Amino acid sequence: MIPLKMFVSERRAANLLAQVRWRDGIYCPRCRAESAIRYGSYRVFQRYLCKDCGRTFNDKTGTVFEQSTIPLRKWYLAVCSYIRLNTSIRQLDAELAVSYKTVYRRVQRFLRALDAPRPQVEGPVEIDELYVNAGKKGRERDQPSRSRGLSTRGRGTYHEDKPPVFIIADRGTGETYVHPAKAADESTIRLLLDDGKEESLTVYTDGFRAYGPLDEDDAFDRQYVVHSEGEYADGDVHVNTCESHASLARRWLSPHRGISKDKLTPYLRALQLRKRVRRKPGDEALKTILETAL
Ligand SMILES: [Zn+2]
Repeated sequence: MIPLKMFVSERRAANLLAQVRWRDGIYCPRCRAESAIRYGSYRVFQRYLCKDCGRTFNDKTGTVFEQSTIPLRKWYLAVCSYIRLNTSIRQLDAELAVSYKTVYRRVQRFLRALDAPRPQVEGPVEIDELYVNAGKKGRERDQPSRSRGLSTRGRGTYHEDKPPVFIIADRGTGETYVHPAKAADESTIRLLLDDGKEESLTVYTDGFRAYGPLDEDDAFDRQYVVHSEGEYADGDVHVNTCESHASLARRWLSPHRGISKDKLTPYLRALQLRKRVRRKPGDEALKTILETAL
């Protein structure tokens, strides 16, 4: 599950970086020319000379690892345990013997580098939201339990330090997306559900009023779902897809007490990435993680 070899040898770690980074061939990070030649080394990293602009670079140049004085192998360990085990940054700083501030900054930088694919839905889709208590600096507070009845649904906005996070489960592709937003309003919902197709998209929602306009729109065929706390006929699986992902997202965020609302997106991208590597063996998982950030 954990690629231990990568954590003991800096040279192996560097080789993996080179392998992933130049997977489409070596190019100059400054002028993008593909005319680089090997040109000595920088510590354990291969160095190159660009024949177009005459500058040199190495395997780390222009990556999230570039400025880091922390050995790459420690980064791999940090990133793997964060993505795989959801280790908090406080725990990581102890494991790596690096200061909390440094680890925090590097992890943030890594998370920001992750790809965030916009939902490409096929449909039918199920959509729902959860609300996370996250202030400007972040606060240590748990979400109070709430009733999911139609009129008392908890809702909030980014502005009120309770940003909504949309969960979209696409039954067409089997993909689930977790997407933080500024507000749970009509325009956000339209943007998320835009599939660019002629036929109407079947959308399962609950009774929240922001989904109301979908009823009037030919682009959508709105269907209702009833949340599990309510009374509903025998177990409709589609109803539960979003709910189970919502609780997954809450659990994912919970070790990172005091997440600021502007950091929600990168943290949730990491959750998306975790789903992708969950069933992969350690080496493959680490490679996929690096591919996403490089
Ligand atoms: Zn160049």
